Amino acid sequence: MFIELVDTLRCPVAHEESWLVAAADRMDARHIMAGKLGCPVCAAEYPIMNGVVDFRRDAATPSARLAPPDTEVALRLAALLDLSDSHGFAVLLGAWGNHAITLSDIVDVPLLVIDPPQEIAGSPGVSVIRCDGALPLAMGAARATAIDTASEARVASAVRATRAGGRVVAPANTPVPADVSELARDDELWVGEKSAAPSPLVTLHVRRGQ
Ligand SMILES: [Zn+2]
Repeated sequence: MFIELVDTLRCPVAHEESWLVAAADRMDARHIMAGKLGCPVCAAEYPIMNGVVDFRRDAATPSARLAPPDTEVALRLAALLDLSDSHGFAVLLGAWGNHAITLSDIVDVPLLVIDPPQEIAGSPGVSVIRCDGALPLAMGAARATAIDTASEARVASAVRATRAGGRVVAPANTPVPADVSELARDDELWVGEKSAAPSPLVTLHVRRGQ
């Protein structure tokens, strides 16, 4: 887990949004390889082993299927997610994690890979977390997000974690959420842009009888 990404992680337990306190037992090139994250609100602790942060309550949660990395897919993903500079970080969910190492060779953006195939480990530029509920990320933290699932709750959680104006890529059979405007689609995928946060409702004072 890249130390700079720890600030964007949030306790997934249902309470007020809280950052997490990192305790590192072993570091490698600014990545926490072993240690834990602790929540100051509910005192939950999340272990970091082999660089992977584990937020799961049920370790038996199935993970995505392993597939060979594909440079063509990684290049396409870099373009769709608009990863042309090094600002921020991008999130890859599930099976997209198969292409994370290849993608990180192409772009300078740190990658946060969530619930990839079991065999995918972290490496410089690629941080891995496992979770079985809402994504443990601050609202609007990610610059772009690639979604691999049609699960409505997970899609909503992933879009919430994406900044306004950030790219979202998802399988074509995933309904486009209301807060994403679709930019393009083909038979496999759609790409959209997260809408700006809605402004607070304006109260209209209607004058009558004048
Ligand atoms: Zn907590």
